[in-house]
Amino acid sequence: MEDQTIRVQLSETNKQKPKSDQLIFGKTFTDHMFVMDYSDPLGWHNASIVPYQPLTIEPSAMVFHYGQSVFEGLKAFRTKDGEIQLFRPTKNLERLNHSNDRLVIPPIDEEFVLKAIKQLITVEKDWVPDAEGTSLYIRPFIISTEPYIGVAPACHYKLIVILSPVGAYYKEGINPVKIAVENHYVRTVKGGTGEAKTGGNYAASLKAQELVGKEGFAQVLWLDGVEKKYIEEVGSMNVFFKIDGEVVTPMLNGSILAGVTRDSVIRLLKHWNIPVSERRISMEEIRQAHQDGKLEEAFGSGTAAVISPIGQLTWEGEDLIVNEGKTGEISQKIFDTITGIQYGKMEDPFNWIVNVETKSTVKN
Ligand SMILES: *Cc1c(COP(=O)(O)O)cnc(C)c1O
Repeated sequence: MEDQTIRVQLSETNKQKPKSDQLIFGKTFTDHMFVMDYSDPLGWHNASIVPYQPLTIEPSAMVFHYGQSVFEGLKAFRTKDGEIQLFRPTKNLERLNHSNDRLVIPPIDEEFVLKAIKQLITVEKDWVPDAEGTSLYIRPFIISTEPYIGVAPACHYKLIVILSPVGAYYKEGINPVKIAVENHYVRTVKGGTGEAKTGGNYAASLKAQELVGKEGFAQVLWLDGVEKKYIEEVGSMNVFFKIDGEVVTPMLNGSILAGVTRDSVIRLLKHWNIPVSERRISMEEIRQAHQDGKLEEAFGSGTAAVISPIGQLTWEGEDLIVNEGKTGEISQKIFDTITGIQYGKMEDPFNWIVNVETKSTVKN
């Protein structure tokens, strides 16, 4: 990048902040956002922190027509000492570039964008809530803004980072959910865009989610798009099973999103010497393990909930109840450890935490 300075334009009036026990996911945004433009041949430029505001984009902007966009999701946490910290943010920025590559969006300078995110959070530090389980959700995204309705990669983009304070995902302890195994619709397919974090994958998932939601299921379990035999993900989370003492998760195969939480779960299990493997897992294997009394736990992993235990899997009219519908021991231990590290209550043996220098902690 040519110009590495970040202009800052502060808003004249600040919004009223919601109470930390009244936060609803994704509905409240802070006073400022980070914006950066891309155009050929300038590259990424105009990095600025500006008041949160609507965008002015032409109706012909390519993103509205062909969905060339990518996004990320990570969180900032407030420790009990009042410090603000991020959980493995470099993994998210690395993944953003991976998604960019798949969607033919020009790469970003990961270090610079991390610096921008930290600076934005510093400006918005009072928005990082401090109640148990709350956090500041960070949503970086890139859209193609070139006014052109031909099908081609765009020449103009915007990278934007918005921030949203979020409440505790589990207010009364983590509770297992009912999942429907999806036999008709698929989220994505090997060779498609499944391993990129792009809006189109979510658009493709809504129909199945809508149908099973009406039947009282929290989410669908996605199977592979070719044979509809092998397990891929649960809703928009990665998925894990504990079978006969071993934890298994579908191996990354091109259609599965490489979750940062997924990677953290695997590393923790290895650290604890609990057998863990990444491999193909068929739904038939899960049914057999259940029948043999060996399906001990099942859970989803992702930034929003960290761990979401699965209490029931319904497949071809059969209900497979997992661990009597209760949260498993390993699921709980992983949840406690990852959140413990995130909130600075537990040791961070992997150096996952990145501190945000807030003005109040800068010494001079
Ligand atoms: C974001 C996402 C995940 C979880 O990734 P994390 O980095 O752990 O939040 C899993 N599956 C899909 C499809 C996703 O979009």
